[in-house]
Amino acid sequence: MVLGPRGRAAGSVNWLHESSSDKEMVLLLPEKIARAAGTGASVPVECCQVCGHAPLTNVLSLGYMPPVNQMVPVGEVPRQQPWFPTNLFYCAKCDLVQLGLAVDPVIIFPPEYPYTSGTTKVLRDNFADLYAEASAMLQLGPLDLVVDIGSNDGTLLSNFKNGGHRVLGIEPTEVGKIAESRGIPTIGRYFTPALAAEVKREHGPARVVTAANCFAHIEDVHAIVEGILDLLTFDGVFISESHYLIGLLDRLQYDTVYHEHLRYYSLQSLVNLLRMHGLEVFHARPIPSHGGSIRVYAARKGMQPVRDSVASMLAAEPRGEAMLARLEAFRNDVMLSKLRLLAMIRDLKEHGARICGISAPSRASTLVNYLGLDEAIIDYVCEIAGSLKIGKCMPGTSIPVVEESRLFTDQPECAIIFSWHIADELAPKLRAKGYRGKLITPLPEPREL
Ligand SMILES: [Zn+2]
Repeated sequence: MVLGPRGRAAGSVNWLHESSSDKEMVLLLPEKIARAAGTGASVPVECCQVCGHAPLTNVLSLGYMPPVNQMVPVGEVPRQQPWFPTNLFYCAKCDLVQLGLAVDPVIIFPPEYPYTSGTTKVLRDNFADLYAEASAMLQLGPLDLVVDIGSNDGTLLSNFKNGGHRVLGIEPTEVGKIAESRGIPTIGRYFTPALAAEVKREHGPARVVTAANCFAHIEDVHAIVEGILDLLTFDGVFISESHYLIGLLDRLQYDTVYHEHLRYYSLQSLVNLLRMHGLEVFHARPIPSHGGSIRVYAARKGMQPVRDSVASMLAAEPRGEAMLARLEAFRNDVMLSKLRLLAMIRDLKEHGARICGISAPSRASTLVNYLGLDEAIIDYVCEIAGSLKIGKCMPGTSIPVVEESRLFTDQPECAIIFSWHIADELAPKLRAKGYRGKLITPLPEPREL
């Protein structure tokens, strides 16, 4: 894809006139991007999703995995199901770590997508923090429009709405209806450059565009960034939150590797990506969401003073050969972690312990399937009442998901916390409600709490 000059609103910056190095980056946009949308299947990622470089280096293989939201009702006759190779690749040219396969979004984001961000306290607190930080830094006015891509149940935007700003959510799944019912206007479609133009026509340009936990998921990221640029005002700011590669490596969060997550950003790889579109990262910081994420602020080059946070985060990241060595160590640690957790589970089962799982986030699917856990090992997985996952089986298995109350009447000897990244929030609640068995966190080290 080579981008030519395009029509912009009066006063917008034509960044094609910038320095020759930036110009080069523009011309280097990949011509061949793995696009699975519309195939009903998957497409191998044969060259870097961001810079087009090939070949990529395979740095982790988790085997074949079912889509994490493919949850069959309990008791249904087993039928054939798709499983997809799950590999991580590293691009030596732009430092991007990425999935080796793009799966059609209709498979991995079914309309009944049962994830809601408002149910997790860490996320609610984080979005309140995002609003406080952004509104102070950008001095947002009441007429300023804030557009959230992948707005989910409207939790992020509700903060901006309560702050008196105009808000608009874009959410293709059913979850958007929850946002609507909370008074957050929401467009039930995928974000594309065409939709961006439509939004701008109807609502005017946006002072802020946010993308929390979805900027790493959308397959044609260059089209998305172009859409965002078109939608933003001249001084507009794009704020993204993504799971952070360095935190993923440090805390051995291989369980966050699944097909929704096409890219695993370091700050460097994000800087490289955004720079290709004339966007400059001017502030970045780690946040606790999803076990370790980064919030990154970007604006048209030169529009915002670049904070020290950018250089200091970049300096702490390994690059090139150092990153390859880090990824090599990660692969070995993932393998050892699997064997250690299985050894712990074997000891428990040899003593006749009943084991259940606590909560069924997407990441639990990767853990369960990578370890090869089944209903003979894990009796059931608990979710809080009201979860749309209750009555269904864990992906790729016949392990039933049941309402949490069963844990307290049953009192199994052991419970593995699959949403271990929020174990500190969960464990005291489980104790307070009366669970007396062992609580185990599987990662980064399998251990009893
Ligand atoms: Zn690349």
